[in-house]
Amino acid sequence: MLLKKNNMRRPIIVGNWKMNNGPTEARAFFDKFIELKSEYEKNGKEIEVDWAIAAPYISMISLMDEDDAKYIPLAAQNVNENKSGAYTGEISIPMLQEFGVEYVIIGHSERREMYNETNASVNAKVLAVTKTLDSEDDDYIIPIVAFGETEAEFESDRTLEVIETQLKECLVGLNPEHMKEVVLAYEPIWAIGTGKTATPDQAQKVIKASREVIAEMYGDEIAKEVRIQYGGSMKPENVKDLMKQPDIDGGLVGGASLDPESFFQLLTYNK
Ligand code: PEP
Repeated sequence: MLLKKNNMRRPIIVGNWKMNNGPTEARAFFDKFIELKSEYEKNGKEIEVDWAIAAPYISMISLMDEDDAKYIPLAAQNVNENKSGAYTGEISIPMLQEFGVEYVIIGHSERREMYNETNASVNAKVLAVTKTLDSEDDDYIIPIVAFGETEAEFESDRTLEVIETQLKECLVGLNPEHMKEVVLAYEPIWAIGTGKTATPDQAQKVIKASREVIAEMYGDEIAKEVRIQYGGSMKPENVKDLMKQPDIDGGLVGGASLDPESFFQLLTYNK
C-alpha cells in the first residue's frame, strides 16, 4: 500500500479556513482560484507542491466540480475516531472518505484550547486515521498533526521540552510505515492569527528538534522522510524565507488562505 503520498518530502501547503468561508463564499473563492490556476497553467506552469484546503464540512461541496481540471484537494479540520454512532456534532473517517477528503488536521491548538483536546485524544484520532493507509483503494486520509508551544512556554524557554512531550504522546504506537506518511505541523501558538511569525531560524530550530524526536521514536530513516510544516502567520511575504530552511517542508496557513490570490501566491512561492 505504501508509498501513498509522501514523495521525498515534496512540500505541502494546506489552507485552514477554520470557521470562515461558508458555502457561498467558498464558491466565490473556488471561481477566482480556478481562474488563477487555469491562467497559470496556460502559461505552461503548474503548482509544484502538494496542497489542500481545510474548509468547513458544509463548504466542501462548493469546492467540488465535475470537471477534473477544477479539482481542489480537500482537508478536514477535525474528525472523530469512531466509525459511527451517538456522537452529536461529529464527523467520522468513513464519511470523510466517502467525500474524497485527502487530509485531516488533528490537534490544532484551537481545538486543544477551546474543545479540550489532549495529546491522548489526538493520538486516538491519529491511530484511527492512519488505518486508512492500509486501504487498497485510493481513499486513504493523511493526518496533519499540529503541535506547538504557548507564548508563556516560549517566553520561559520551554519550547523543546513541550514539543517533545506533545510529539511522543500524540504519535505513540503508530506503525512505522504509517508514520512516514503523517504530516506534522509545528505551530507556535503565539504566532497563530497574531501576525507574529517565528523567524525562519526559530522555526527551523524547533522543526529540526522535532525531527530528532521522531528519530528517537521511529529511527533516522523515517525521521528523514517525515514532512514537517510550519504554521503561524505564514503569508506570501515570508513564505520563501521559511521554505528555504532545510527542515521546513511546507505550511499550515490560516488567514492568508482565505483569499484566493494570496493562497495561490503561497502555492506558487517557488516561481
Ligand atoms: C492556523 O490556523 O493553523 C494558522 C497558522 O493560522 P494563521 O496562518 O492565521 O496564523
